[in-house]
Amino acid sequence: MGTHFCAPGRVFGQILRSETWGTRLRTRMRESCAAGIKMVGMMTRLRSVLYMPFLLTTLCAAHVAVYAAGPAAPNADKAQTHGWAIAIHGGAGESEWEHMDAATASAYHDSLAKALAAGSAVLKGHGKALDAVEAAVKVLEDDPLFNAGRGSAFAADGKNEMDAAIMDGATLAAGSVADVEFTRHPISLARAVMEHTPYVMMVGPGADEFSRAQGLEQQLPSFFFTEMRWQEFAAIMRASGRSVPPRPAGVGPGPMALSEVHGFTHRFGTVGAVARDSEGHLAAATSTGGMQGKMPGRVGDSPLIGAGTYASDRSCAVSGTGVGEYFIRLTLARQVCTLVEQGQTPQQAADRMIHSELPALKGGEGGVIVMAPTGEPVWSSNTLGMFRAKEEEGSGPEIHVK
Ligand code: ASP
Repeated sequence: MGTHFCAPGRVFGQILRSETWGTRLRTRMRESCAAGIKMVGMMTRLRSVLYMPFLLTTLCAAHVAVYAAGPAAPNADKAQTHGWAIAIHGGAGESEWEHMDAATASAYHDSLAKALAAGSAVLKGHGKALDAVEAAVKVLEDDPLFNAGRGSAFAADGKNEMDAAIMDGATLAAGSVADVEFTRHPISLARAVMEHTPYVMMVGPGADEFSRAQGLEQQLPSFFFTEMRWQEFAAIMRASGRSVPPRPAGVGPGPMALSEVHGFTHRFGTVGAVARDSEGHLAAATSTGGMQGKMPGRVGDSPLIGAGTYASDRSCAVSGTGVGEYFIRLTLARQVCTLVEQGQTPQQAADRMIHSELPALKGGEGGVIVMAPTGEPVWSSNTLGMFRAKEEEGSGPEIHVK
């Protein structure tokens, strides 16, 4: 930032260094201060010197105050900002995308649209990115089509063990939970860990106990159970030579109608959201039932900060989906943001990790959604499909099923 011409301008200029329209603002401040100095000269000639320091300070401060009221965006010196924006995903997949029928595509389209609208509504009302990503993910957690909350995958013992994480790009505060069984909205439990404990991560019975103590809604296993996910699970267990455990307590003995499935299952149904709010802050959230047939106690990338979820106003916000073990080894979400910090665009950074680094590890499949500090959402996947949607201030929703 260049030198300013008067003390008040210099002080406020430092405060505003990272804010929106920094360049334009600095120019205007210089003009304002220069005008003030010009007036000082004139007034000096009128021998009113005693009042000048006060007048000059007032002029500069008034101009700064006007511009300080505008929206703020980190990294605005580098690129023009685009206002608020949000992107969501509902998992990625391979062969299942080839056989997706129109009814299935339409059901997923509608579900994505609903979740996107919940997140956008927060941002339209000048709410926080953190609230927007939580709102969008909660809708997806309630939707049985996705592998998160209701509709979660099953561990080999037939239980749902759910993972979730949320991160605030403004403060780098983060919260996550793993292997929780009873919380209707694991993403809200992750947020409670972030806001009401000194910790970042809690797991298993301790996290469930904390959830109850926080008054978060608890549900029985039968609430999270869907026939679609159970049939998918049973097939995976049989295919891998393992026996299918008894159906969860409270669930009927025989297969229920598959009305909600349209014959479609997909491997990575994790859900996530990234957002930029009108204050220029970023946030990311991810929620999942994990991998079907996982060993009880297995934890994937989604709740691990830096692996499946990351957000920093300095670089980007990321939510991933895919085989968690590869995302963990690459600290993939953080790595995308590191590449952005090093000068790559979010698209370049996401593509490099998803199309180069991830498949370089045999079995590395998946995708990410990424929010730039300027508010441009991008995505990248190395699978045939990824359910994804985005909305930016000033333009309508964009939803991709295939
Ligand atoms: N990443 C998730 C996990 O490994 C799975 C998914 O994306 O569907 O737990």
